[in-house]
Amino acid sequence: MLARFLIWSLLLLVVWRALRTLLAGIIQGASAPPPPPAGPPEKGELMVRDPVCGTFVLPSRAVSMRDRRGTHHFCSDRCREAYQHR
Ligand SMILES: [Zn+2]
Repeated sequence: MLARFLIWSLLLLVVWRALRTLLAGIIQGASAPPPPPAGPPEKGELMVRDPVCGTFVLPSRAVSMRDRRGTHHFCSDRCREAYQHR
């Protein structure tokens, strides 16, 4: 009688632990945040031409200058200086 009770208790304990582990896995999987969208961090930026040496540069990384004719982008300070002094 006591042995049967012990066996049943053990069995229930094993089943209960297995169920809990399973449930925890389901809950964790459901509440996990979705992965961040993959892809390049910035969209393709149009390159502009350095009016002095003709090199194509990205406006965000270029040396910029504004004048009456608009905004100009240069590959370096040297090109900007050359543009201003001609
Ligand atoms: Zn240049």
